[in-house]
Amino acid sequence: MTRVVLPGATIGVLGSGQLGRMMAIAARRMGYRIHTFSPGEDTPTGQVADLEITADYEDLEAIRAFAKGVHVITFEFENVSTEAAAAAAEIVPVRPSGASLHITQQRAREKAFLADHGILTTPCAVVRTLDELAVALGGIGVPAVLKTAAFGYDGKGQHRIQSIEDAERVWSLIGHQEAVVERFVDFSHELSVVAARGLDGAFAHFGAIENTHDNHILDLSIAPARVPAPVAAEAVRITRAIMRQLEYVGVLCVEFFFTRDGQLLVNEIAPRPHNSAHLTFDACLTSQFEQQVRAVCGLPLGSTAQLRPAAMVNLLGDLWMEGEPDWSSALAIPDIKLHLYGKPDPRVGRKMGHITALADTADEAIEKATAARELLK
Ligand code: AMP
Repeated sequence: MTRVVLPGATIGVLGSGQLGRMMAIAARRMGYRIHTFSPGEDTPTGQVADLEITADYEDLEAIRAFAKGVHVITFEFENVSTEAAAAAAEIVPVRPSGASLHITQQRAREKAFLADHGILTTPCAVVRTLDELAVALGGIGVPAVLKTAAFGYDGKGQHRIQSIEDAERVWSLIGHQEAVVERFVDFSHELSVVAARGLDGAFAHFGAIENTHDNHILDLSIAPARVPAPVAAEAVRITRAIMRQLEYVGVLCVEFFFTRDGQLLVNEIAPRPHNSAHLTFDACLTSQFEQQVRAVCGLPLGSTAQLRPAAMVNLLGDLWMEGEPDWSSALAIPDIKLHLYGKPDPRVGRKMGHITALADTADEAIEKATAARELLK
């Protein structure tokens, strides 16, 4: 198997959402072809890919057939099964590896991995029954958050537990499956570090990005994060250690809570480009998407130098509920960039696009990005 996949070759993407779409745009700019595989049709990635294959991730024969048509496979969606990743890896390199995917796609395994490597996380316990939940809450305390161990994203499969008496109600909400219960953290900042690791072990990062969530969904990202430099440096150091321990190849995101008493706790790891670094598309010399292409193709990583401070706001389907957003008004603000993902059916809470604003300071960028979003209403 060739290790380096040169421009002109075909990259296969498992998953077909906006992350795959933006990676496909970056890949095409560099002369690659893109094939995407998912159960969907006319998907955000499929719309800009050379080929869109529609099949289930469980259909291993379809995965193998897909793999035969590409030179390397990556994913933009971590809930692809490890069996699917293994079937693909019989035929072409899969980067990041199925082993990295296996650890990071399930909260309980991810927490165990972090604990084994001495990395601080939110105080938590794995629970399988209501009794185990009650015992765990006794140790962890309330308020707490119960999260399904697998297949959670954007706050799906997450519920807050305000008091011990609340446990039964919340347990019934998540459907009696394996879950992780975490202490609700009193943080001053949520941070993420998005970084890439090459085939040769090279490492490049975009620094700490500051994030705010609304209803568990990312709302606003700011780069650089407004935290002391040693905090940002420590977050990068932890991210680098995680990637080295996973022998990771590709782009990965580590989400952190920076607590009011000065601790940096890992919340979770996403084995792919991440919503918080969408602003790198416009603000950095090399975006997270180009970096993913370079890393999985075995090319040297690009410079992550940031050209100007930036802020990004997500555009959720909620904005469409009163009719088409007012694009012209928003786009009249200079220094903003509009990204839409080609999703035909806006729904409440669905990520439809984002706006990135560039400015001389992070605070000004936040003002511009949020003002642009207000004008859409
Ligand atoms: P997650 O899917 O785990 O990243 O959770 C989504 C968002 O919910 C986080 O970014 C936080 O804003 C919030 N959240 C999740 N877990 C906790 C926690 N243990 N303490 C405080 N906030 C949390």
